[in-house]
Amino acid sequence: MAEPGTSERNTAERSASENGTASLRPAPPEVDRAAASQAAVAARRARAAVKAAIARQELSPLTVLDRATAEPDGVEGRLRVTEFLLSVPAIGTTKMQDALRTLAISPAKRLGGLGRHQRLRLRDYLIDREAKAGRLKNHLVVLAGPTAVGKGTVSTYIRENYPDVLLSVSATTRAPRPGEVDGVNYYFVDDAEFDRMIAEGELLEYATVHNAYRYGTPRKPIERALEEGKSVLLEIDLQGARSVRAAMPEARLIFLLPPTWEELVRRLIGRGTEEPAEQQRRLETAKVELAAQDEFDHRVVNTDVADAAREVVDLMKIRAAPSRP
Ligand code: 5GP
Repeated sequence: MAEPGTSERNTAERSASENGTASLRPAPPEVDRAAASQAAVAARRARAAVKAAIARQELSPLTVLDRATAEPDGVEGRLRVTEFLLSVPAIGTTKMQDALRTLAISPAKRLGGLGRHQRLRLRDYLIDREAKAGRLKNHLVVLAGPTAVGKGTVSTYIRENYPDVLLSVSATTRAPRPGEVDGVNYYFVDDAEFDRMIAEGELLEYATVHNAYRYGTPRKPIERALEEGKSVLLEIDLQGARSVRAAMPEARLIFLLPPTWEELVRRLIGRGTEEPAEQQRRLETAKVELAAQDEFDHRVVNTDVADAAREVVDLMKIRAAPSRP
């Protein structure tokens, strides 16, 4: 960032050395220079505070990386990747250099200047380290993606075939569809009950989806499952995925993609659960949602449900499903 006052000073010094009229040059604006150096000192101090907090394990490196991504010119974004890694407990110079080589990141980079792939590689590296050090209690994985991509089908397949995964059951204010069971597909609640859950802090996140009904993730069952060493899968919308990432930066975000846009349209219309106006609204939302796929750690294309489910579970790094006939 340009420091206010610097350009005036340089211009004044240049003109003084060029024509020897030092006494005629305008006086540098002292106030600006003082403010600039104060700002630089404050920025350095803020970066030092972030590094110290990482070193004391008060701040997760993942949180710092996420903040740097959200605000590349903020305090975290301006941290050099070398300084950042060196502040992580048990990473010394050799490990830091090895990591940068393996991750193909130049030591000159700042966190906010990393490319998407570099950022994702660095994130995976940090997650693996945190997991090995026992600092990640367990895996919380969020499966999101555009409407009708088959999130529900993939997560149902996982629930039925991978008993080690807890599939979170959301609360919703929408009415059950035929065949849906209260407590299995959703907790179907009215607005008053949903308000109560929010007020009592029972929801990890909640959102109004498709401008219609409210959906939220109950916090307790997730915390209990993670404490018991289970992996947890949340199948929620994009806003929910963002909220979970803010609340739990170690969560892994998976984006489920359709093989093609035409296939997505076909699936939405084919399932026939929405009126045409609602279908149209959901397709509009889907376009916006597809544009957000770069925010996610992993992408899985849902061509075949069993394959997509296996890929999601592999990304959770849990035991494989029992083989099926
Ligand atoms: P549906 O009404 O078709 O079952 O779900 C509509 C949308 O709500 C889907 O995109 C689904 O992922 C999302 N959704 C389901 N449960 C939750 C939740 O607990 N939180 C959030 N934010 N979205 C949810």
